[in-house]
Amino acid sequence: MHLQHLSLSNYRNYTRLELALPLGLTIVQGANAQGKSNLLEAIVYLATSRSPRTSSDAELVNWLAQAEPYPYMRLAADILKNERLERLDITLMPGQNNGRLRKQVRINGVNKRAMDLIGMLLVVLFRPEDVELVAGSPSGRRRYLDIALCQMKPAYCRALSEYNKALAQRNALLRQLAATGRPAADQLRFWDEKLAATGSLVVARRQWLINHIQDEASLRHLDLSGGYERLQLRYLPSFDPGHFPNSRAPAYPSTQQLREKGVAYQSLEIDDVRTSFLAHMQAGRGRDVAAGMTLLGPHRDDIGFYLGQRNLRTYGSRGQQRTAALASKLAEVTIMTTVSGVSPLLLLDDVMSELDANRRAMLVDMLNASPQAMVTTTDWSHFDTPLLHAAHRLQVHQGQITVIVPDSPDAEPLPPEPRHPYSSSLGSTKR
Ligand code: ATP
Ligand code: MG
Repeated sequence: MHLQHLSLSNYRNYTRLELALPLGLTIVQGANAQGKSNLLEAIVYLATSRSPRTSSDAELVNWLAQAEPYPYMRLAADILKNERLERLDITLMPGQNNGRLRKQVRINGVNKRAMDLIGMLLVVLFRPEDVELVAGSPSGRRRYLDIALCQMKPAYCRALSEYNKALAQRNALLRQLAATGRPAADQLRFWDEKLAATGSLVVARRQWLINHIQDEASLRHLDLSGGYERLQLRYLPSFDPGHFPNSRAPAYPSTQQLREKGVAYQSLEIDDVRTSFLAHMQAGRGRDVAAGMTLLGPHRDDIGFYLGQRNLRTYGSRGQQRTAALASKLAEVTIMTTVSGVSPLLLLDDVMSELDANRRAMLVDMLNASPQAMVTTTDWSHFDTPLLHAAHRLQVHQGQITVIVPDSPDAEPLPPEPRHPYSSSLGSTKR
């Protein structure tokens, strides 16, 4: 897959950008706060119709444009995929009635749902904040699974969206039941079945992905850490999807036990998970009514990262957590390529400065093996000279991008510091 061209209008600090992108490695250099992360965020937004940094689309509209009578933002990408040229565009513009922003998604000029866009442009983004994948909250880990799976399997995305809608309905009903003290009504059965039908696919695919990440990531982790300890990923669901409780003998593991040990199935049949989920929901119905919410299901899933028997979330050093997160992200690239037959665009936001020489070298190998990759940096010296000379180089300053032409005076000397028009006025930008 080749992202050939990117156009941005009124997107964050880019008022207007037309950018051609070659295959291979592109390095984007800029001081702090010039637009490096914004650029990669724009590409992820085009791929997933969501920002990896914010849930508020309004934040993405350029501040100056926000003050205009008709504030709008537009992103577009030309992609060459399986020898077909596809054009994606997303526009945010004021809605007709309430003035709130409306999102319009188009593929090859035809209006589509945001969900149809996902999977057209495959991306894997890695940022320093991704250490939170291991160290942060379960919701971040679920989001990681969801973004990866939605890009690979459109049916997953549909099931997840239906699951979330059904969950909101079931929770509303449970709140009503809790408030009125009425016994659990038959209406619950309807939502139980809806949750089980959609949630079972979510659970089965998550287990599938975790197994694959585990296999790939443990190999990458050995290389990255130069160590001998095996990285393990375990699915930590809120109920055991391969176990069928009955009301007489609730012998299934407690949530606490599952949280500690997790479960590992080579593969899960969706129909089995459905039966199991339904049985667990019905066995736990009293608790759900008392709590006024659904206590079991994929919305409560988690993944555990372990080194030996130690959970990295609690016991890992920051460096160990970062290495595990990086290994998992790199594993995602391989899995996505195998599943879709198309290599995703690899996006690395300012990660070089945080890595030691060994990890940097590993990452550079990965970049070189990737058909198209973009990496941002504050400092050219994070890359060695041959790599810099082989790469397509861009410089960003206040939302304006300049292409560095290889033999131009601007491109020399490299490294340690390039002479570029802004370096003297901005001083050192190393972090
Ligand atoms: P760093 O090296 O610190 O990570 P960066 O180059 O990645 O910097 P970005 O995160 O891309 O910086 O942000 C660039 C600038 O865009 C920042 O100054 C930020 O305040 C600004 N910005 C963010 N949102 C908007 C917006 N909606 N309109 C205009 N500018 C914005
Ligand atoms: Mg940044």
